[in-house]
Amino acid sequence: MKYCNVCEKHVEPVKADWNWKWFILLVLTVVGWIPYVIYHVFLKKNNRCSICQSDELSKFSPEERAENKKRREMRKAKRAAQKGEGNVGFEEDLMDVFDDETENLLKKADIAFEEGEGDQAVKLIDKALDIYEEDEDVTGSFPLYKKKAFYLYKSGRNDEAWELYNHMYSKCDEKRILLAQLFNEKRKMLEFEGKYLGALREAIMAKIYYDWCYLDKDRSDEIDYDWTEDDSFNELARKAEKEHRWEEARQVLVEAYDDLENLDFPEVNKKVHTLFRK
Ligand SMILES: [Zn+2]
Repeated sequence: MKYCNVCEKHVEPVKADWNWKWFILLVLTVVGWIPYVIYHVFLKKNNRCSICQSDELSKFSPEERAENKKRREMRKAKRAAQKGEGNVGFEEDLMDVFDDETENLLKKADIAFEEGEGDQAVKLIDKALDIYEEDEDVTGSFPLYKKKAFYLYKSGRNDEAWELYNHMYSKCDEKRILLAQLFNEKRKMLEFEGKYLGALREAIMAKIYYDWCYLDKDRSDEIDYDWTEDDSFNELARKAEKEHRWEEARQVLVEAYDDLENLDFPEVNKKVHTLFRK
């Protein structure tokens, strides 16, 4: 359903009408009518009001828009309140803050998923995501995207899940804490698919981005930077049968982390990626 701004009501969008004048004119050109028929049948989108045929359709009515705005402000206030409760740093960006209606939809989605209705779960998440459409900041919708990707993946819609990850990547912009999570999600999926080298790369990226967040907040003392001791990286390298590649990457990382305060994250990023592209 869409909202027609001319009729001021919700309508089911339809195709623009068949144009007989055009058709008869094109028949005179002998073959010109063929593309018109193809265009009308296959290519025309349902983007007209079914009552007045205008194309002034929008997703929400002014009332719904106002309601969405209210909910958005509610979420902002909730988030701000949590910030005020002594959460310093970036952890508050990781909190899932939803309004009641969204929470309701999420609960329904969880139930649907547990009952084996993965597609229905995705639909419910999409419904929840609808109202985030106008949010400029992706922090609020990020957990929803994560959940949607998980449902897609678990429902065998892998390609769509990966597409969604790419979409999320472009939306995350430079938000490092979100990117760190995104890399970690990708790591999980790649591991699940048995693509261990890719998983290793994403695991390294996730760690680097989390550390970058700590450094941003002057919390470098919380960074555990002993790359040689972390078994999870070794394990992925072993499964990928690329231990030498990991060894090279580790050299780069150990060296870079030696001078943590001056760590040039973009440079390390580049080096690690170059190694993995070999
Ligand atoms: Zn209309």
